[in-house]
Amino acid sequence: MNIQSDISDPLPLAILLMAEASISPQAAGCYDLMAGWLEKLEFRVLRRHFEPGGEAFYAIRRGRGPNLCFAGHVDVVPPGRESAWHSPPFVPEVREGVLYGRGAEDMKGAIACMVAAVARYLGGGPDDAPTLSFLLVADEESAGYGTRAMLEWLKEQGEALPDFCLVGEPTNPEYIGEMAKTGRRGSLNAMLTVRGKQGHVAYPALADNPVTRLVAMLHALKSTPIDEGMEFFQSSNLEVTTIDVGNPVTNTIPAEAKAAFNIRFNALHTSETMTVWVRERCASVGGDYELDIRVTGEAFLSPPGLLSQALLAAVAGVTGHTPRLTTDGGTSDARFIREYCPVIEFGTTNRTAHHVNECVRESNLHALADVYTEFLRQMAGTCSVSP
Ligand SMILES: [Zn+2]
Repeated sequence: MNIQSDISDPLPLAILLMAEASISPQAAGCYDLMAGWLEKLEFRVLRRHFEPGGEAFYAIRRGRGPNLCFAGHVDVVPPGRESAWHSPPFVPEVREGVLYGRGAEDMKGAIACMVAAVARYLGGGPDDAPTLSFLLVADEESAGYGTRAMLEWLKEQGEALPDFCLVGEPTNPEYIGEMAKTGRRGSLNAMLTVRGKQGHVAYPALADNPVTRLVAMLHALKSTPIDEGMEFFQSSNLEVTTIDVGNPVTNTIPAEAKAAFNIRFNALHTSETMTVWVRERCASVGGDYELDIRVTGEAFLSPPGLLSQALLAAVAGVTGHTPRLTTDGGTSDARFIREYCPVIEFGTTNRTAHHVNECVRESNLHALADVYTEFLRQMAGTCSVSP
């Protein structure tokens, strides 16, 4: 049987990938499966181990014009309480048109759709096929290091880097065609430690209560909105995640109080300006305190262009829906890819990702494979006229 018609159906591929217990940062047998399919489609496969991320995977097939990359992760989060699953998390099962198993939505289903789309597209014998590539990692759900490391390594090796990239993270809240992501908010974590002077509650003048200042700082941080939002972005938001004093007694003013908070910020800010904003608000209260700030991603926006136009046209053609371009939700590895090329995210539904009984409708996998196929045709057409 012709391998190209063999792998043009995403369902069997998804089942094979989901049967691999690739709990982050393990790839289990996923890369072997991918290499097997992609080598038959004339891709050259590069695999490389990075610390602390584990193994990353890049496959490239030279064609005409720019390099169109499909990116994603083969790792999954742990299944959680296995007894709560109706079928074992790594024994994929179809029940009433729904495929159950860990990774169904996030994001082995989408990877199977990418392979199916490439097989269908190449199976048609196009004479204008662009360069195609796959960039996969096994640490997206943990260290989040592999994508950046692989891109840096490819650059050092002089390999063809992506010119356009589609990341297959699950982006659709309810149905295929609802939402694509064209950027992401930045994320900043802060640990605030306020120091005072321990003393008796009955003699506050002899002590300095750090809790009073901690509360005042959190109020200064939280009482006014950071901004009002902007096109494609929600307003930036700060959430206090913990307040810790750990004082077991009722008659003593403690010496120290701590709080932690996270800010998801839009492209009106950078991590530097956001850090200044935080420091100014804490300084307005003053006293002895320490701020430990860690940035896990900058806000970014891939402005609408060739890539988003091709995707929107493909989605509209296949589903009849025009997806909303947003930057909602958590971060993804797109934050590293965007330093190299325009990137857009579009995948399956996102209703059960990371839940027990994670699942995806078979019909949604077929729709997504159709969208990716049409997207490839659209991109090939655009790239061949404007290399
Ligand atoms: Zn994911």
